[in-house]
Amino acid sequence: MGINRRDFIKQLAGIGGVALLGKDVNVWAGEPATSLHDSFGVIVDTTLCVGCRSCEKACNQINQDLPRKAPQSYKDNSVFEKRRRMAADSYTVVNRYNNPEDSDKPVYVKFQCMHCTDPACVSACIVGALTKESNGAIRYDPWKCIGCRYCMAACPFQVPAYEYNNAMTPQVRKCTFCFEQRTSKGKAPACVQACPMEVMTFGKRRELIKIAKRRIEKHPDRYIPHLYGEHELGGTSWMYLSSLPFEKIDFPKLGYVSPPSYTEPIQHTIFKHFIPPLTLFAVLGGLMWFLKPKGVKSESVLEEENSEK
Ligand code: SF4
Ligand code: SF4
Ligand code: SF4
Repeated sequence: MGINRRDFIKQLAGIGGVALLGKDVNVWAGEPATSLHDSFGVIVDTTLCVGCRSCEKACNQINQDLPRKAPQSYKDNSVFEKRRRMAADSYTVVNRYNNPEDSDKPVYVKFQCMHCTDPACVSACIVGALTKESNGAIRYDPWKCIGCRYCMAACPFQVPAYEYNNAMTPQVRKCTFCFEQRTSKGKAPACVQACPMEVMTFGKRRELIKIAKRRIEKHPDRYIPHLYGEHELGGTSWMYLSSLPFEKIDFPKLGYVSPPSYTEPIQHTIFKHFIPPLTLFAVLGGLMWFLKPKGVKSESVLEEENSEK
């Protein structure tokens, strides 16, 4: 059972946060993850990407809640002079990397939410504003969100962004896997559909893994033998093929166990024994900091690197 933002604030404002805890622990614990193999996913073959940014444009066009950007702005290649992150006004970005094998052929990589199978953001959300759908998508309900931004701290890929510009109703923003418009109807996401180079393949995750492995087997000179996301963090819906080692294209080196496997038993113990929420926040905050992958570059490191370019 969920709770909306207004009810939550009302309860915290004096009618008793502890009563809320005792009433429905599921509000805090999140929903169980969906089956790894039955969900949908996408393979991104970075060796095919030419950096045309049609995927960014398609994402902006289909998500009507994003600020409108002029179609010609997606032809501006000066954006590649900096490494960009997903932001409140862009759910997906393409970055450019040097290719040590051939300096005339840079490597382009499209990033967005990985739609993890056992997502840390969903587990960290104390009011159930983020949910994992059975097709693989992570959805967000702004009416339940209380703006605590635990999802942002928990995400190992630093994906969720906060919409600071909107003072009245700020929201957490991130790729939706085009759930409402497309993937809930079995259609490929808008970015996948728009790509002229067929960089992305949409389908059942289990089939995609087979396709990716066949490509690696057939072209060992083209790909490193690693499908990123097959096992990382227990698996992600979006998986990547690359010619360069993944740490060279800003993917953090991660273990195979999902962060919620560590944090949820602690969460459940705390609720079972009615330990106050502040204790929970302190414990989970400390654990998230400890588990944070070391390969993820902070905003300040990224800015420093960009200024040195
Ligand atoms: S990449 Fe981050 S925001 Fe996306 S599902 Fe995983 S934990 Fe959540
Ligand atoms: S799946 Fe949809 S929301 Fe996500 S990056 Fe692609 S177009 Fe944007
Ligand atoms: S549309 Fe395809 S080729 Fe163009 S930047 Fe996006 S992923 Fe790369």
